[in-house]
Amino acid sequence: MKIDFTKSDGLVPVIIQDEKTLEVLMLGYMNEEAFQKTEKEQKVTFFSRTKNRLWTKGEESGNFLHVKSISIDCDNDTLLIKAKPVGPTCHTGSRSCFKTDYNQNFIFELENIITDRYENPTKKSYVNSLREKGLNKIAQKVGEEGVETVIAALAETESDLINESSDLVFHLLVLLKEKGLSLADIAKNLESRHQ
Ligand code: AMP
Ligand code: ZN
Ligand code: ZN
Ligand code: ZN
Repeated sequence: MKIDFTKSDGLVPVIIQDEKTLEVLMLGYMNEEAFQKTEKEQKVTFFSRTKNRLWTKGEESGNFLHVKSISIDCDNDTLLIKAKPVGPTCHTGSRSCFKTDYNQNFIFELENIITDRYENPTKKSYVNSLREKGLNKIAQKVGEEGVETVIAALAETESDLINESSDLVFHLLVLLKEKGLSLADIAKNLESRHQ
């Protein structure tokens, strides 16, 4: 990766995005040394303009940013890092330094929670109870919630429709998980249809 460090005193801006939810977490700057350290340790290190030194995010708080991917923009002067955050990224205790609209992303977060239940099945959870009942039962739940969504749309209140749609989306996420698929597969397919 050929990064152009010449434009602002040897620094390039770096956007940090949550690898799973794609929420923008923070923006920092790297000089070449910070970039090399980040690549080597796979943990985000910035050059702090206030501290005037290399700053590994999380060095005091433990809230490190583990690097998942690094990409560069069209003219090689800005980086985008997808990272797995350990705890809140902002020193105020917020997930993000920006007040982001997290609602849409929560569906992806929920998918991660479902994956976690699959990977750590000791927890007594609704997801695990569904999983124990098996594929047929999960698929049947999606069918039921689909019908309930239709009924709510035609005859009931907005809050019923929101609730039934939530049930439908949740059970669909579990069904996809059970079949080894993800929301990303669906998003890719929908995108490919959109011409
Ligand atoms: P940390 O790197 O999380 O151990 O935090 C060390 C110090 O860096 C904090 O006390 C803050 O002064 C500063 N800091 C931490 N996180 C951020 C952030 N997201 N944006 C700006 N400054 C931060
Ligand atoms: Zn650029
Ligand atoms: Zn912050
Ligand atoms: Zn329902």
